[in-house]
Amino acid sequence: MSRVQVDRERCVGSGVCESIVPEVFEIDDDGVLQVLRQEPPADDLDGVRDAVQSCPARALVLAE
Ligand code: SF4
Repeated sequence: MSRVQVDRERCVGSGVCESIVPEVFEIDDDGVLQVLRQEPPADDLDGVRDAVQSCPARALVLAE
C-alpha cells in the first residue's frame, strides 16, 4: 500500500497538490493542508506522483 507523507515544516500551503488531486489533498479554511486519504487508491496514484513532482516546497513524498 502506498502512503502519502507531508513534511509540515516545508509545506507552504500553496494548494498545488489540491489542484492536481483534490480527492487526496485539501487546503482547509485555515490554509493548512489536510491529506484526505493517506493511502490513496490506485486510480489516484499517478496524480499523487504528479503532485509530489509539482510541489514547490518539495514537501510531499509517496512511499511505495
Ligand atoms: S503543493 Fe506542497 S507546499 Fe503546496 S500545499 Fe501541497 S504539499 Fe504544501
